[in-house]
Amino acid sequence: MSNFGIRYGVSLRKRYLAVKADKQRRYKCDLCGKEAVKREGNAIWRCRHCNATFAGGAYTLKTSAGETVSRILGKE
Ligand SMILES: [Zn+2]
Repeated sequence: MSNFGIRYGVSLRKRYLAVKADKQRRYKCDLCGKEAVKREGNAIWRCRHCNATFAGGAYTLKTSAGETVSRILGKE
């Protein structure tokens, strides 16, 4: 039982680190193609190159298959 508990704790820590790294990652801008999109606020992302603003997931720019970004750009 104690073995199981330890393994569970490690996987949680790994997941936390992955989310943290994602928040600090730069994403490619759909408008100018530069990897300059950074997290501006909760679910708000801004491109440092062309100043475009996107609404995405809270911790990563694209939620599933980039659907949120396409909606903002009006490509629906
Ligand atoms: Zn851009």
